[in-house]
Amino acid sequence: MIGCRCEIAPPTLLLAVAEQGDPEVRDAALRTLLTSAALRSRRSALGPVLRRFGLSPADLAFLPAQAPDTGPENTVYDVAGGEEAALPGRRVRGTTDPPSGDAAVDEAFDGAAATAAFYREVFARDSIDGRGLDLVSSVHFGQRYDNAFWTGDQMVYGDGGGGVFVAGGLTRALDVVAHELTHGVTQFSAGLQYRGQSGALNESFSDVFGVLVAQRAAGTDAASASWLVGEGTLEPSLGRALRSMIAPGTAYAGDDQPADMDAYADLPADDDPRNDNGGVHVNSGIPNRAFAEAARTLGGEAWETVGPVWYEVLTGGRLAPTAGFEDCAALTLTVAGERYGGGSAEQDAVRGGWEAVKVRLPADKR
Ligand SMILES: [Zn+2]
Repeated sequence: MIGCRCEIAPPTLLLAVAEQGDPEVRDAALRTLLTSAALRSRRSALGPVLRRFGLSPADLAFLPAQAPDTGPENTVYDVAGGEEAALPGRRVRGTTDPPSGDAAVDEAFDGAAATAAFYREVFARDSIDGRGLDLVSSVHFGQRYDNAFWTGDQMVYGDGGGGVFVAGGLTRALDVVAHELTHGVTQFSAGLQYRGQSGALNESFSDVFGVLVAQRAAGTDAASASWLVGEGTLEPSLGRALRSMIAPGTAYAGDDQPADMDAYADLPADDDPRNDNGGVHVNSGIPNRAFAEAARTLGGEAWETVGPVWYEVLTGGRLAPTAGFEDCAALTLTVAGERYGGGSAEQDAVRGGWEAVKVRLPADKR
């Protein structure tokens, strides 16, 4: 489900059929026309079509809110070594365009499409904001820039090659792309503050759905998954991955993620980069491992078992922007009970995950 929706019938032909056909034919032609990628990419063109057929926007109720086999607009820009002031850069590839031949552009495009398809097909979520937000990515940020990020509006990818990431590694890893886009999902749902425990939860949800997007794309179940984030993106001398969800602290030499609350890093949320906004990339290992342990206990495909529980917690309106680990743990137990039943194997596995990382659970949920 990546790439263009290549339409064989030109819109002019469909218009002609719609104008001449009987009501049934007219409706079918209009439906095809109004859901076409060509028209969707120029929403301003909808008005004239509606007027021509004497329709109001309400008459389009028969259309799905988002045509099931298309997605939000997906556009990739080349910022050509520039930085923030130059974003987004030159437009290189849009939703229906063929591959550009620039690997970074095409990987960012495919990763965004695969992530949007995951949210649509697994959780019926229409893009990252749930309302069809267009996906914008910029590649070739900075000079040998060793990071990727979500700005609040778009994804940005450096080329790597600066000593941390292998050249091209950041766009090549689907879980990294999906991690960045999931920051957008969090921004538009729970809005977890990016500091301290709520920030570590924000990071963890991005890792959870980042690896689930990659696991689903590869058809990997919970038992055989590596539970590594960004595997193969680091310079090999540094280590094998950015993070390990199942064994936090083991992904690379110097990996400082704690595996449970006994090793929790109580860092100040100040401007010192060594403190990582109060350990958002450090303590995220704790909720990461709780998820991975629960998923492994249950087996099967994690996006079908524990994934929906975490998704409801993130997007269901009950997790506060300032939530800590215990708030999140309690809510996962509640949601697992709602979805699978109190005392179900799923709820037991979720409880076991939090117990493994020594996060305190409410007394009535033990
Ligand atoms: Zn992140």
